[in-house]
Amino acid sequence: MPAAPPEKPRKVVVLGSTGSIGESALKVARELPEWMQVIALAANSQADSLSAQAQEFGVKDVCIYQDALREKVADQVESDVAVSSGKQGLIELATLEEADLILIAIVGVAGLEPALAAIEAGKDIAVASKEILVMAGEEVMGKAAEKGVQVLPVDSEHNAIFQCLEARESDEVRRLILTASGGPFRQLPADQLQQVTVAQALKHPTWEMGQKITIDSATLFNKGLEMIEARWLFDVEMDRVDVIVHPQSIVHSMVEFCDRSILAQLSTTDMCFPIQYAVTYPARVENNLPPLDFAELAKLEFEAPRWDDFPALLLAKEAGTKGGTLPAVLNAANEVAVDAFLKEKISFPGIWRTVSDVMERHTVANSPDLDTLINADAEARQQAEERINKHG
Ligand code: NDP
Ligand code: MG
Repeated sequence: MPAAPPEKPRKVVVLGSTGSIGESALKVARELPEWMQVIALAANSQADSLSAQAQEFGVKDVCIYQDALREKVADQVESDVAVSSGKQGLIELATLEEADLILIAIVGVAGLEPALAAIEAGKDIAVASKEILVMAGEEVMGKAAEKGVQVLPVDSEHNAIFQCLEARESDEVRRLILTASGGPFRQLPADQLQQVTVAQALKHPTWEMGQKITIDSATLFNKGLEMIEARWLFDVEMDRVDVIVHPQSIVHSMVEFCDRSILAQLSTTDMCFPIQYAVTYPARVENNLPPLDFAELAKLEFEAPRWDDFPALLLAKEAGTKGGTLPAVLNAANEVAVDAFLKEKISFPGIWRTVSDVMERHTVANSPDLDTLINADAEARQQAEERINKHG
């Protein structure tokens, strides 16, 4: 029997509501009003969409990160809606008294401080923004444990693993097996990667997502970031996090237990699945999402990743294994390099060359506090920019 709805719906704050994940979260809220009530929304630049969302969901708190757009939003929404901006605005939303769950769906690391503030205020968080767990996974998970709040994974692979684990201890786990679509260049010969265009890299074979994660999926940095994300979310060492290419993106990930039994989670490719589970957890609730038809699928394929042709995976493995400030450096250099690739300042392989160079020049600090991580992030961004300006 599917669970009956709770007495009151979960009050959810959506940070990054105008993006791909944000829009999917609002779809879930529309479909499951008895389970999910959106009470606050935040975006960066899309003022019109943010105002329209605020109107539709009748929220009383919105934040537009760009301060120059604050007045515009204030003019567009009802007069009783509080409109804030900047980091402070995000933190106010993340700590709203009545909020039960904060969904962090901001691309990049801008969601880190709001996430930590939410945890500090005793709120459960649902995390799509893998970058914050790559940069500061130990800090986020440590604070969450201290405060007794939940960190619910929204990334489809991690949500799948979360479902397979169902409160199992991490020492019963032999391996976490992350599936990867392989991206648009899964079969492209290595010598052609240099010529890849932005338009080609933005054509993901199975998922429709924001630009940054789509490029990350093409380089396989997305899977690299996800390996580090998994390491922190599920408290396993890097050498127990494995990757397998699965072009159909139907098996979202798997867990191999100590008895060598493997559990997998499967569904059609729609981010509403993991978002819904994060919101209704631990309940399973009926919906109208497309069911999986095995006869129509006919086959599910698996193959080894091309470790040598796509160095992102090995760079991430190295960063996750050495730890300290290195994952933050990898993440920051990658953010800058992806932006430069999108602006056609560097080639596609230029992305991993930039990351690799910046990582090589970094002296790792162990057990970093938040300030040390923020400094390492800023320094890596600067070095990546310098390298890009110098070498292109
Ligand atoms: P999008 O680029 O589609 O959306 C990003 C969102 O973040 C937008 O709402 C944007 O606002 C907002 N934003 C950016 N900077 C700020 C800021 N400083 N303050 C407030 N809001 C901000 O990205 P996605 O939705 O694809 O991805 C979001 C995160 O989720 C990423 O970390 C990604 O890795 C992760 N993820 C995404 C998946 C997907 O299927 N899309 C799958 C798994 C993980 P605006 O639009 O106004 O600029
Ligand atoms: Mg993913």
